[in-house]
Amino acid sequence: MTDWQGKHVTVAGLGVSGVPAAKVLSGLGAKVTVVDDGDDERARTQAEELEALGVAVRLGDGDTLPDGTELIVTAPGWRPDKPLFLAAGRAGVPVWGDVELAWRLRGRGGRQAAPWLAVTGTNGKTTTVRMLASILEAAGLRTAAVGNIGVSLLDAVLGGEQYDVLAVELSSYQLHWAPSVRAHSAAVLNLAPDHLDWHGSMEAYAADKGRIYEGNRVACVYNAADKATEDLVREADVVEGCRAIGFTLGTPAPSQLGVVDDILVDRAFVENRHRNAQELAEISDIGAAGARSVAPHNIANALAAAALARAYGVPAAAVRDGLRVFTPDAHRIAHVADVDGVAYVDDSKATNTHAAQASLASYESIVWIAGGLAKGATFDELVAQAAKRLRGAVLIGADRALIRDALARHAPEVPVVDLDRTDTGAMLQAVQEARRLARPGDTVLLAPACASMDMFANYIKRGEAFARAVSELGA
Ligand code: ADP
Repeated sequence: MTDWQGKHVTVAGLGVSGVPAAKVLSGLGAKVTVVDDGDDERARTQAEELEALGVAVRLGDGDTLPDGTELIVTAPGWRPDKPLFLAAGRAGVPVWGDVELAWRLRGRGGRQAAPWLAVTGTNGKTTTVRMLASILEAAGLRTAAVGNIGVSLLDAVLGGEQYDVLAVELSSYQLHWAPSVRAHSAAVLNLAPDHLDWHGSMEAYAADKGRIYEGNRVACVYNAADKATEDLVREADVVEGCRAIGFTLGTPAPSQLGVVDDILVDRAFVENRHRNAQELAEISDIGAAGARSVAPHNIANALAAAALARAYGVPAAAVRDGLRVFTPDAHRIAHVADVDGVAYVDDSKATNTHAAQASLASYESIVWIAGGLAKGATFDELVAQAAKRLRGAVLIGADRALIRDALARHAPEVPVVDLDRTDTGAMLQAVQEARRLARPGDTVLLAPACASMDMFANYIKRGEAFARAVSELGA
């Protein structure tokens, strides 16, 4: 669809992706109607702004397909079983997400369309995409970390900046609504149950993640320790000659990147990979300001980023330089302070059990602060795996009983403090209790394995409360 003049496009959802999409489409001459279930003050203000630009807005009914709709552009979070989409299916109207729209609009207006290096996975997407952008920059390329990371792809493809290549984070929702995106190369970092209510089943979730490999030209990067990611590569329809490249925390086989004696090595993008390997960086090069060691999952993320960069032709030295200057986003295994020989680490972003498992595996002796909204998760496997590393646990939040019960079953020796309060002082008390349990050399780790919304606005606020509480310990 290249001629937008007069096209009837329905934009589903006001908000971070809907408003810019409506503006862009209207600017291209399309007849745009925005629909949204909400009808609050904020929605009305946004509606007024759009109406002034000639966009029709229908608030309070996001389910009826407007007459004459030829295309729907949806916010990524809208569920596929919503009546609007069922009606679109019956009427043969295609549905695109914000990512699909950006993909179709790239290269307009005489700009050169930058290729995409794309990343998805249950956990580690943001970290990997930031590492990747940092490596590409170190190679002197014009690039940006975009997508599900807070910088809109529409802005990146239509804005004033010309990029050589984009580091693109894609969520499973975005991939669901992006049927024709074709990356230069892509990585699926890992696959664990998440968002199953939205996708309907684990199979549907995996299939949506797997879309990221469709039509790849140079490399499909998979996690050698997670067979499900390799299966997705096998099932993908790629361009002839595109290679499957694995990453591993062990010694790499040919066509893999891995680790030998604390050095990240490439046995994929080298000449004669059966005999040769290229040193890329040392583990200690992976940026982690103030941390005592690099968490294993961040080594995996660095290898995935390196694989995508190498697929794009980046020299080995730029991988090292990029990893050195990379700084992790806040609340992802962030070292907050050392107090009395105990490290305090904020991994508030560990909002599911798969993420918490990775962070608990990163430390030897842990006082674990956990709990919040479980989102239907179970904790037996997580607790059983972490049991021998736990000095103690402090539980907070609405679903803490689920974790307490799992601790009783799998780690009955571990002392547990169960905090029955959800007010703003709760985190301070949690940190004080954790301090009481900790011994010098231990790590007090906020890795809740749960969402935060029962006590905090979001995981950022939860992490900030933790850091504030830690700072009061030193006082
Ligand atoms: P995402 O963008 O996928 O949510 P982030 O990079 O923001 O991922 O990391 C979220 C959390 O997931 C981190 O705080 C950490 O606990 C965990 N994590 C990061 N990378 C991995 C990985 N490769 N495997 C498992 N867990 C990870």
